[in-house]
Parts: sequence; structure tokens; C-alpha cells
Amino acid sequence: MSDLEKILSLISTGKRFLITSHENPDGDAIGSMLAIGLGLEKIGKEIIYYNKDGVPLLLRFLPHSEKVISSLDDVHVGFDATFVVDCTDTSRVGVKFEDFKNRGRCGVTILIDHHQTSKPSADLYILNPSASATGMIIYSLLKTLSLRLGSGQALKITPDVAMNLYTSILVDTGSFRYSNTIPEAFEIAAELVELGASPWEISQALYESESIGKLKLLGCVLPTLEVTEDGRIASVVVNRDMFKATGTSKEDTEGFVNFPRCINGVDVAVLFREEEPSENGSRWKISLRSKGSVNVAQIGERFGGGGHERAAGCTISGTLAEAKRLLFSAIKEVLQ
Ligand code: 5GP
Ligand code: MN
Repeated sequence: MSDLEKILSLISTGKRFLITSHENPDGDAIGSMLAIGLGLEKIGKEIIYYNKDGVPLLLRFLPHSEKVISSLDDVHVGFDATFVVDCTDTSRVGVKFEDFKNRGRCGVTILIDHHQTSKPSADLYILNPSASATGMIIYSLLKTLSLRLGSGQALKITPDVAMNLYTSILVDTGSFRYSNTIPEAFEIAAELVELGASPWEISQALYESESIGKLKLLGCVLPTLEVTEDGRIASVVVNRDMFKATGTSKEDTEGFVNFPRCINGVDVAVLFREEEPSENGSRWKISLRSKGSVNVAQIGERFGGGGHERAAGCTISGTLAEAKRLLFSAIKEVLQ
């Protein structure tokens, strides 16, 4: 039996499912979680939605996002299966979840993902690295499921599910601009609009609802711009003092890496974001973006992270100078 068959049969026989995704969730992570969960709720399944970091403010417009819990401490029930969506591996959900899983609380683990660097960590998989967003895989799973169930059952893509899925595709394709935008992304988006997704409502919520603090933070971040001598690597930095001075948090850095990337001639853009202090400096969360000549997923992987060919990430601990030195030499090696 294929994994897909096993998953479909688990869905029809199971009663209670846990749905989760990676830390620092983006629109694809939350949109995919909610879409699959809402679909399964429609056919009478009991769903718990968990994300360690909760739903970022920016994404709280997503229908039913208030259902997502950020702690498993009060979850005392067991699950028939756990869906881990938009994650290269289950460890990206966080240590509390790993612990929960290791205590046998998750049931069968199912990883649904579209990253290049997915690693074995679950029992069953639906992987499609050519899908523009995990939401596209979820859409096709929900369609397959509704066909299987037949017309007697109520699984249909409601406007709420459509809103979540449209958002997941919009976000992961950079509003249909990135190279991962395949024809199917437009086809599914069109179907989702027919099913009730509102492009204007979603783009207004995502792109026209910034806080004043975020713009002030951007004002602190842009002067840190550095471009290497050959003009091919550009980076910006956001440190904890900037967050403090502007009353902002890491969520407010969403999209900042696009500023160094938009420079003519730049191949790789980097955002260094300071997290908690480490032994000899800080933990630096790194966002990597490529315009095509470098596979940044491989660079992320070299530092224990991963992602997509053109958008990836990792974490390096140490001083900023050290983190820059390590990362830039890895990028330069590939640029040669
Ligand atoms: P972002 O820079 O927007 O945080 O992440 C870009 C892409 O890289 C996302 O698809 C994200 O899932 C992936 N990514 C970011 N950081 C990490 C990491 O530390 N490990 C892995 N495996 N993927 C990451
Ligand atoms: Mn994604």
C-alpha cells in the first residue's frame, strides 16, 4: 500500500488528529495546518492544532487561527495520527513536540512537505518538492479525500479553507513572483477564489497592515546593509537592541531579507537576526535568499538548517563577525 493510501485509510478510521508545523510559522505553515484540520473537522474528526510559537499577529486574520494552541501541557488525550506540515523534519516542530512524540503520544506521524531537504523522521510521507506551497499538496489531498468519501459526506472546500490555502500559496510564491510559481499554483489559486478566497482581503491583511514599530525597525535595519566587494552577497542585521528601541519582535522582521535581495547584481541575500545570548556571543537566526545561481538550501544544511533552493535558513552561534565569516565563506565557495 502506498503512503497516500495508508494516510487516506488512517483518516477514515481515525477519530482524533494532532496537526502541527515548524517553529516561527509562516503563512504556508499556518494556512496548511488550518486547511487540513478544518477539512477533517467537516467529516467529524476531532482536531488539535499546535504550533510552538502560536500564530503570528500578521496571520491572525486567517479563519479559525484562534484554534491554534502553543502548548501541549494541557493535552492529555492520545491521537490516531499527527500531521506535520510544511516541515523538513519533525524536529523542526520543537523540543516539546519531540518529547511528546517520543512518549508515544502522536500516533502515526505523517509528514506533508514541499522542501528540497526533507529528512526521514516520520512514519508516512507526502512529499512534493515541486509544489509551490505545502497548501497545494493539502488541496489535492482534500480533493482526493472528498472523492473517496463520495457525495454522502460533507468534505468540501469551504470559503474558510479556501482563504487559508490561497494565503499559503500567495506567501510561498512571493505573490506569484518566485521561480517556484508553477502553472498549477495559478490554477489552484483560481479554483480557491471561486470557492470563496478573497485576494484583496488577504493581500490587505498581509501587505497593507504593517505596524508603525515595524517601519521604525526597518529604519534601524537598512543602515546595516553591507555588500561584498564583488557585489554578489548583500546582508542586513537586526539585533536585540533594535527590537527593544522600537518595541518590536522577531515577527516584525518578516520580509526584511527582500531588501538586500532587490539590489541589482546581488546573488545571495542574508538577514542575521539576533536571538538569545549564547556562550560566546548570540544565536543568529539566518535567512538566506538566492536569485538562482546558488542553492541556498545546501548552504543552510551545512549549518544544520535547510529549506528551498532559493529560500532557506539556519542558525549560527557566536559573535556576529564570526557568524558572517563562516556563512560568507560558505557562500563564496559556491559562488566561485
Ligand atoms: P525564512 O528565512 O523565511 O525563515 O525561511 C525560508 C525557508 O527556509 C522556509 O521554507 C523555512 O522553512 C526554511 N528554513 C528556515 N530556517 C530553517 C532551519 O533552521 N532549518 C530548516 N530545515 N529550514 C529552515
Ligand atoms: Mn512552505
